[in-house]
Amino acid sequence: MPMEFLKEKHIEYIKSLDAKQGDLEYWLSEHLRLNGVYWGLTALCILDAKDTFKKEDIVNFVLSCWVKSTGGFSPFPRHDAHLLTTLSGIQILSIYNSLDALTEEQIEKCVEFIKKNQLEDGSFQGDRFGEVDTRFIYTALSSLSILGRLTPEIVDPAVDYILKCYNFDGGFGLSPGSESHAAQAFTCLGALAVVGKVNKLSKSQIDKIGWWLCERQLPEGGLNGRPSKLPDVCYSWWVLSSLAIINKLNWIDYKKLRHFILSSQDTKRGGISDRPDNEVDVFHTLFGITGLSLMGFENLNPIDPVYCMPCEVTSKFKKYPY
Ligand SMILES: [Zn+2]
Repeated sequence: MPMEFLKEKHIEYIKSLDAKQGDLEYWLSEHLRLNGVYWGLTALCILDAKDTFKKEDIVNFVLSCWVKSTGGFSPFPRHDAHLLTTLSGIQILSIYNSLDALTEEQIEKCVEFIKKNQLEDGSFQGDRFGEVDTRFIYTALSSLSILGRLTPEIVDPAVDYILKCYNFDGGFGLSPGSESHAAQAFTCLGALAVVGKVNKLSKSQIDKIGWWLCERQLPEGGLNGRPSKLPDVCYSWWVLSSLAIINKLNWIDYKKLRHFILSSQDTKRGGISDRPDNEVDVFHTLFGITGLSLMGFENLNPIDPVYCMPCEVTSKFKKYPY
């Protein structure tokens, strides 16, 4: 069977998600709703089909997720704010060049919300419930970067904490001493890249990171998140973006990875799943598409490996230190 990239079907699949509001499935995913909009919109941008979603509706939805009492964004109106959804809200507004839809006061409160979740050791908790993970350092620094509000008081302790999450095998864990995981490589390297501090890692550390990452590729072409795990399309993003940040993208066999991603497409209704023959979802659809974009396949629009947003948008960001 000729393996082709089903661009138009993927656009239709993402579009169909927006029409599913009556479905049980849709309501069950309320806690992911704002993230879901960001995943879908970013995929559409890379597919050069940004206008598939109606800008006004999406911006209004994002604004309805802003939580007045705390200043962050929640996944859905009347839920609690969290750092993960705060980044999604800021990314969506930024992609639509609509950050000015927020008032000065709203932006101040949002910056306060993010800063308040930083702990004494430089790490961040996702919200007041206190879960700590390097994912939240990434989301906090990326959000503040997009808003142009990074300061050394926030950045320096966060960078120190990230460096402690580096493991001797060349990977990064979700906290100091925890097992290396490919998604954590992205959150740690991405956070360092957002603040211009990748050079805090030595050359031998960077080489080791490159080796650990390229060993994630399995004989069938797909990438896994940890040794002896199954391949999964989303690691096309976590691993490739990390390799792109350290300029070692070509340490991966592009052709084999492309084949794995394309075999995970739903040839009937569009969308991409975690691995061939599984159910598709918007998360794996985005990360399959961004993986292909990073490798330069399928004539896709370029994705920024640091921000996971279209380069067209991120090329306008102010670089820290300002
Ligand atoms: Zn996955």
